[in-house]
Amino acid sequence: MHVHSTFSDGADRIEDNIAEAEALGLTALGCVDHVRVDTDWVPDYVAAVNRLRGSTRIELRCGIEAKLLDTTGALDLPDDIDGVDAIYAADHQVPLDSGPTHPREVKERIASGDLQASDVIDAILTSTARSLERPQRVVIAHFLSILPKIGLTEADVPVSGLEMLAQATKRTGQEIEISERWRCPSAPTLRPFKALGVPIVLSTDSHKRGTIGRYEHCLAVLRELAAPPA
Ligand SMILES: [Zn+2]
Ligand SMILES: [Zn+2]
Repeated sequence: MHVHSTFSDGADRIEDNIAEAEALGLTALGCVDHVRVDTDWVPDYVAAVNRLRGSTRIELRCGIEAKLLDTTGALDLPDDIDGVDAIYAADHQVPLDSGPTHPREVKERIASGDLQASDVIDAILTSTARSLERPQRVVIAHFLSILPKIGLTEADVPVSGLEMLAQATKRTGQEIEISERWRCPSAPTLRPFKALGVPIVLSTDSHKRGTIGRYEHCLAVLRELAAPPA
């Protein structure tokens, strides 16, 4: 799941990614490419995935990845996303009340006392929860990958906040991924999601075919989740 192609910043064409998945004996391939509000190729991308569905026995999913913009849950999406199976909501910038903010600036503002770390974490949780409120399937992408960039860790996120987000994910029928590329979120972060039966999906976030379908970190997190809490 979560494999980029040359439609955005992936190194390989969708056809090449499919060939890799076939060689590995995979049964499904989650195509995902980065979009922004001014992206104009989504209809071409959807058409390409649909056309390729006729050429392989692998189940192809057609996803797009967009960044969280602010605490309303708005995403950096173009208007026309018809035919897209899933939106990956990603913390590529820090979604504050005022809009997407570069992590370096947020880190500096926390250090100077201009921003409270707890308020920043609240903003990320609120933005993520509200992004789930849409008719399309939403996957929470590499959740909390932004934290190390602003000098925080997953341990700084209160369990009550994770429970709020897990409830929102359950209520809206959405999903959360574990990212092989970003090595997050951790098993403790995922426990409230698991407790509610939220689907937890594995993603490589591949940007080249050689990383498709190779899971180590994700499986370690799943094993930790299966064990009783420490
Ligand atoms: Zn991403
Ligand atoms: Zn990605």
